[in-house]
Amino acid sequence: MKIGLNLFKTNYLKFSIMNPNNLTKEYTNGEVTIVWQSGKCIHSANCVKNNPDVFHPKEKPWILPEASTTDKIIETIHKCPSGALSFYMNKKN
Ligand code: SF4
Repeated sequence: MKIGLNLFKTNYLKFSIMNPNNLTKEYTNGEVTIVWQSGKCIHSANCVKNNPDVFHPKEKPWILPEASTTDKIIETIHKCPSGALSFYMNKKN
């Protein structure tokens, strides 16, 4: 039974990593790290409307965290309707 659960977890993890429709990417300005989960994104463009200096959907990389303040980035992430955007604060050295 435990082997079956471990096999499920391993396959789920492989699927999550390998599925091109479910990528997780991180972008940092050194203070805050923006986490974007492509599989959750509903393309509402709220991020682009709220912070066009940082979010450029037609460019690669499409998120430029150094183009805005950390407070503005966090404020923008809170307005993402799908939960595709999240963040964590980087550890201070
Ligand atoms: S606000 Fe969230 S759901 Fe909308 S486009 Fe940006 S990341 Fe995707």
